[in-house]
Formats: sequence, C-alpha cells, structure tokens
Amino acid sequence: NFKAGDYGRILKKLCPREQQCLERLMRDSLRPHVPTYFGLAQRDGECYNQMEDLLAGFEMPCIMDCKMGVRTYLEEELEQARQQPRLRRDKHVRRWWRSDPGAPNRRGAPLSALAQARYNAIGGRRLAPSADAIGFRIRSIKLKTLSLISSTPSPLPPQTNYLERLKELRAALEQSEFFNTHEVVGSSLLFVHDRTGLAKVWMIDFGKTVPLAGEQTLTHRLPWVEGNREEGYLWGLDNLITIFSTMEQD
Ligand code: ADP
Ligand code: MN
Repeated sequence: NFKAGDYGRILKKLCPREQQCLERLMRDSLRPHVPTYFGLAQRDGECYNQMEDLLAGFEMPCIMDCKMGVRTYLEEELEQARQQPRLRRDKHVRRWWRSDPGAPNRRGAPLSALAQARYNAIGGRRLAPSADAIGFRIRSIKLKTLSLISSTPSPLPPQTNYLERLKELRAALEQSEFFNTHEVVGSSLLFVHDRTGLAKVWMIDFGKTVPLAGEQTLTHRLPWVEGNREEGYLWGLDNLITIFSTMEQD
C-alpha cells in the first residue's frame, strides 16, 4: 500500500476519496493536523497520493495508530450490504464466522442481508471491545526498545506534549468546516514521539471520509442511530484527552 517517495515524502496507493479529502484539507483549518499533500505520483504504472512523511524529523520514533470513532463502516456500506443479494465475504466476516460457531452459513454460502446487518451492528463491538464503549481503539503500537535508548538518560515523558496536541486538535476540529461537513470513519490519530520528548499527533487515513448531504452537519459526539451518520469521533477524542490528563497527574 505504501512506497517511499522523494525525500521526506511517502506514497500511498491512490484512493480517490482520500485524494479529495487531502485536497480539501489543504484549504481547511485542519491543515496543520494532517500530512501535507503533494498531489498524485506515478510509479511502475500505479497511481499514488504523495504526502508528507510524518516520521521524518524523529529519531527512532515510537508510533501508535489509534482508530477514532464508534463505527468502522460507513452508513452507505450498511445500506449496500442490505441491498446486495450476494455479500462481500471480507476478512472481518470470516473472522466473525470463526469467532461465532453459531453464525449462519459457515460453509461459505453468502450471508443473508439480515445476517450482514447483524454482523455490522454487533461486529464492531465483537471485533473491538473498546470502540463502542470509548470511541477509539488502538490499532498498532511500535516501540523502540533498543538498549541504546535504555542506556541513555531517561526520556522526557511525552504525555504532556501529546495532551497539548490533542487539545489543539480538538479546538481545530470544532472550528473546521471540513470536519463539520464530513462523516469520518476509519480514520486514525497517529501518535509519534521519540526520546528527545518531541511528541506529535496527526490525523491520517481518509479513505472512508465522505461529505455529508446538503446542509447536514454532525456533532461527532451524539450516539449513532442509523441515519444520523454520527460516528463518535469527538466523543472518542474527549475520552482520549481525559485519559492523557490522568496520566499527566501520575
Ligand atoms: P491504511 O489504509 O492501510 O490503514 P493508513 O493511512 O492508516 O493506511 O496508514 C497505515 C500506517 O502507515 C499508519 O498506521 C502509519 O504507521 C503509517 N502512515 C500512514 N500515513 C503516514 C504518513 N503520512 N507518514 C508516516 N507514516 C504514515
Ligand atoms: Mn488506517
């Protein structure tokens, strides 16, 4: 999915939806909180979005990818799943089958639309116990535990910098025209810090971020009821901020 780009840039396999978002974000107040976008690039006949490498400038960084919101699928995907007679049997559905011996059609027959809707309704909770309850989930963590680090004087704790960044981000989100008018699903906060105490947070991954219809706006905090398109992004961020505030007191 990713390739190294020119110095300080990375290439991500083109997703037109993500391209549109990145273009609009370059003209939005959220710009400082997302990777700078440099347009399209071609490599070996494939098309890529070219963006800032957020790890450049860090020394052996620790990285955490935290997926935001209470839903991992768009409302339009739920609708499609209901309408399609044959349904995608993606890896999540297969995982669901494996995790639930009583699930219908384990031998590979397509799930009924109803089963798919049920999967969508309960799947997020089943596959990610935290997402429903708290509005985010940790997708991956990469820590550098080289002896070089442990032998250097203890690093500055990154929590305070993270907390500041998260609060700035929340203020920017509440002001952002882009954010107010998009359903933001499957997007992550990328936490990056290193032993110098430098710690930053960016929003990444806009492959499932879609414009709302007409004049609709979201609070990003209300519980999701099908049709309201609320995805709990800010609710998850509020919870993250509370957690980081607690850590700071320790
Ligand atoms: P996917 O659609 O595969 O989930 P993401 O955009 O979420 O792709 O990126 C996957 C991972 O790649 C992230 O968790 C992060 O570690 C890394 N990554 C993504 N964008 C950048 C970037 N601009 N700079 C540095 N690393 C990035
Ligand atoms: Mn992602």
